[in-house]
Amino acid sequence: MAKLDLNRQPMPAQDPEERSRNFNEVALGYRQEQAFSEAQRCLQCKNHPCTEGCPVNVDIPEFVAALRSGDLAAAVVALKRKNNLPAICGRVCPQETQCESRCLVGKKGAPLAIGRMERFVADWALAQNGKNGKGGVDPSSLPLPGCGSVAVIGAGPAGLTAAGDLARMGHKVTVFEALHVPGGVLSYGIPEFRLPKHVVKAEVEYVKSLGVEILCDMVCGKAFTVDELLEEFGYDAVFLGTGAGLPSFMGIPGENSNGVYSANEFLTRSNLMKAYLFPDYDTPIIRGNRVAVVGGGNVAMDSVRTAKRLGAKLAAIVYRRSLDEMPARREEVEHAEEEGIEFHLLTNPIRILADEGNWVRGLECQKMELGEPDASGRRRPAPIAGSEYVLEVDTVIMAIGTSPNPLVPRSTPGLEVSRHGTVVADPVSGKTTKEGVYAGGDAVTGAATVIEAMGAGKRSAAAIDEYVRAKVAALG
Ligand code: FAD
Ligand code: SF4
Ligand code: SF4
Repeated sequence: MAKLDLNRQPMPAQDPEERSRNFNEVALGYRQEQAFSEAQRCLQCKNHPCTEGCPVNVDIPEFVAALRSGDLAAAVVALKRKNNLPAICGRVCPQETQCESRCLVGKKGAPLAIGRMERFVADWALAQNGKNGKGGVDPSSLPLPGCGSVAVIGAGPAGLTAAGDLARMGHKVTVFEALHVPGGVLSYGIPEFRLPKHVVKAEVEYVKSLGVEILCDMVCGKAFTVDELLEEFGYDAVFLGTGAGLPSFMGIPGENSNGVYSANEFLTRSNLMKAYLFPDYDTPIIRGNRVAVVGGGNVAMDSVRTAKRLGAKLAAIVYRRSLDEMPARREEVEHAEEEGIEFHLLTNPIRILADEGNWVRGLECQKMELGEPDASGRRRPAPIAGSEYVLEVDTVIMAIGTSPNPLVPRSTPGLEVSRHGTVVADPVSGKTTKEGVYAGGDAVTGAATVIEAMGAGKRSAAAIDEYVRAKVAALG
């Protein structure tokens, strides 16, 4: 397989923002003629099962029909009627398991490249300066008669979707975000080369243009509580879209050594605090020379590819099962292979070795073999006695999963959480055990996907709309 020359990728632009924009986005976009020709393949199926495969129910034949007739403005309107963040989804949706998996053309060949067409149309809209596809009302008129005000906690995909939809329905919506920028994982987790931050920024601006107010640096559970929002600040309902940002560690010896990161911290330093633009930005990050990333999911792939771009000579994945069991998307694994990432499969870390200054100097691993399937249906890895060896590394990044931060549940009496720390909520409406409080996205499901979080935000928005209208009507 051809290797990508990483040294050729970073652009020499002087402006840090420009350099950030160019930081190696892998060019997967369609050109106009490709998008038009792909759209011709759509059968315009009467029942369009593709739409059912999309958690926000984009009317796919409608936007594709507009695209193939050359009416891009109409295609944008069709897309944005259901999807507030199409340029983001066009880049990061796992389409192969969502809309594209249901496409009837796919029964006898390649399904329609719905995600790529979506990205093309959404990028065209961004190039028009976001003037197209605006479906909101005059923000100054919110709330409309019969509507109320809603607080949304967390400006990730779940919160932004719920907020945008509720504003469109006529409610006054305020989003409270703990970090200094909105976007959630879209901003702090997914790297620039997969999802440029100017795209996230532009789609957040679009959500704001629908009438949504976003307040950053506002930590719910510290600066204010859910009860205060409902009882003192006059909100009629609250939506919790606080994600699952609490990293897990393995609990092996040496994990507190210098040079051990959680994937979240590593990616946040690189993406959000722009450590990769040092010295223009002075965020410290250890630019490991030999980096091991523990885990086999998309977060592990993003971490290892980021480490490589930050200059690591060795950037390796250490995963305890085989390639077949790896949860990362196949295309992410292929990109990592193309970029020269090493894969240490059927390998489990058992100890982190450090020097006298407590800096990482190696990762002691043990080889594994696969046994019978476990509860997850994947074959259970078992250690091979006497197979221990040391992988010489100076940085270890743990990408073995995350769970929801307990801050909001602990400060909200009456809000039930599961034993995994996820908020207990109705899977359709997002209604929680506390009156007037709804929840969706990773905070409820545990770590999942952008489009699933958006689907949950959309369903909750519909339920909150009904709840608030009934409450406002009852108050006369
Ligand atoms: P989040 O995106 O986590 O947003 C939650 C927001 O709530 C955050 O901004 C957080 O700061 C804020 N918050 C938390 N607590 C509080 C509080 N107390 N007060 C105020 N605000 C608070 N999915 C895909 O579909 N495709 C991908 O390619 C993909 N890649 C990924 C790569 C990485 C590195 C990671 C970590 C995840 C990836 N995912 C991907 C998963 C996807 O990003 C998440 O499933 C999705 O972002 C969940 O959305 P959310 O809105 O529920 O939560
Ligand atoms: Fe497919 Fe995602 Fe677009 Fe829905 S939002 S149509 S799942 S690419
Ligand atoms: Fe077009 Fe495929 Fe959807 Fe049919 S299922 S409408 S061919 S995208």
